[in-house]
Amino acid sequence: MYRFIPQYSPEQLHALQEDGLRWTVLHAYARSPQYRKKFQDAGIDPTDIRSLEDVRHLPLTTAEDLREGYPLPLLAVPESEVVRVHASSGTTGKRKILAYTQKDVDSFALQMARCFELAGLSPQDRVQIAVGYGLWTAGAGFQLGCEQFGALTVPVGAGNLELHLQMLTDLGSTCLCSTASMALLMGEEVQRHALADKIKLRTVIFGAEGHNAKMRRAFERDLGLKESFDIGGMTEMYGPGSSLECRAHEGLHYWADLFLIEILDPLTLQPVAPGERGEMVVTSLCKEAAPLIRYRTRDLSRLLPQPCPCGCSMPRHDHILGRSDDMIVFRGVNIYPGQIADVLQEFKDLGSEYHIRLKREEGRDFMFLQVERGNGLSSDTDEALAKAVAGRLHDKVLISAAVEIADTGALPRSFGKSRRVTDARLGDGA
Ligand code: ZN
Repeated sequence: MYRFIPQYSPEQLHALQEDGLRWTVLHAYARSPQYRKKFQDAGIDPTDIRSLEDVRHLPLTTAEDLREGYPLPLLAVPESEVVRVHASSGTTGKRKILAYTQKDVDSFALQMARCFELAGLSPQDRVQIAVGYGLWTAGAGFQLGCEQFGALTVPVGAGNLELHLQMLTDLGSTCLCSTASMALLMGEEVQRHALADKIKLRTVIFGAEGHNAKMRRAFERDLGLKESFDIGGMTEMYGPGSSLECRAHEGLHYWADLFLIEILDPLTLQPVAPGERGEMVVTSLCKEAAPLIRYRTRDLSRLLPQPCPCGCSMPRHDHILGRSDDMIVFRGVNIYPGQIADVLQEFKDLGSEYHIRLKREEGRDFMFLQVERGNGLSSDTDEALAKAVAGRLHDKVLISAAVEIADTGALPRSFGKSRRVTDARLGDGA
């Protein structure tokens, strides 16, 4: 029933992954001086890697390796075989530039085409692209995938709301690819100009930044959508489209014939128990120009081992819960701010801003959580609300926290990759 998403039995997928892993390790060792040195330093001979379990013996690759190999890190083909580069925005220091062969570009197109298929689109759809073009992977990726899939592409690019609204009305675009905040802004504009009856949008595919359930409900309502889908991806793994939510909306399917995912404890770098949360570490299985071997993504998630109700046999991971740098160890338990945010989402009387403060007294850790009251609500129910939140945190995240409800707007706003945690336990020698 799928044209682009192959359906494998677990045995078939296992065999494919094993072949891909062996090929990748031999290829990287033979053709990338950077990988060869890493393997030699770790005392690894590529022929030692025979089964999927052997992946654990390989050294990890980090963003540091990408910087070290600048401008064409991890390169494992002659430069004459490179047909394009893309780069991530990179908040500090040098950009990460990644090289692609023609086969890599084809794999990039395929992973995106699979996303459009999983989102239930057909070649009759019109896909309006509202993300950046250029060195950035997003625009190029959506466009390549959409053309491969056979739908009509409307490549407007990032920003330019007026042009977007014009194309939505004149061309009747049915799918929008954007960030969640751009979709939110577009929804507000559609309402402000009373265009809801004049547009034909049914689907939004959104990614590349944090979002919350409230934002998502708001743009789904304002744009009159049938559905929206969270998309995964990163420049290192071709770009967007390495995973997508399916129509069951219970996690994201990822293309396990193109890459492996391991989930490691970010502190010990050992595998977590199946289904537990940790850092996603990826190994590409057919990437030529810049293969990834146990690349630390810093993204936190978990694998969802049960079969998906949608019937697609590709495995799934959960939504990204945050960055491993933000992990808190509290009374011996690893906690991610995303887990706390998930609990707060359940309360309609709360805003989305919160702050965590950690303190140590007499050798014991304490957590204080401040959450903003929802806009326009009275403080009368604060006490009951705080108690309910604390109870839910205890049940779901297994932590005891003192919860305080703050006035709307009382907590500092942080933009981008915010740190919502103040850790006052540090520096006391414990
Ligand atoms: Zn599914």
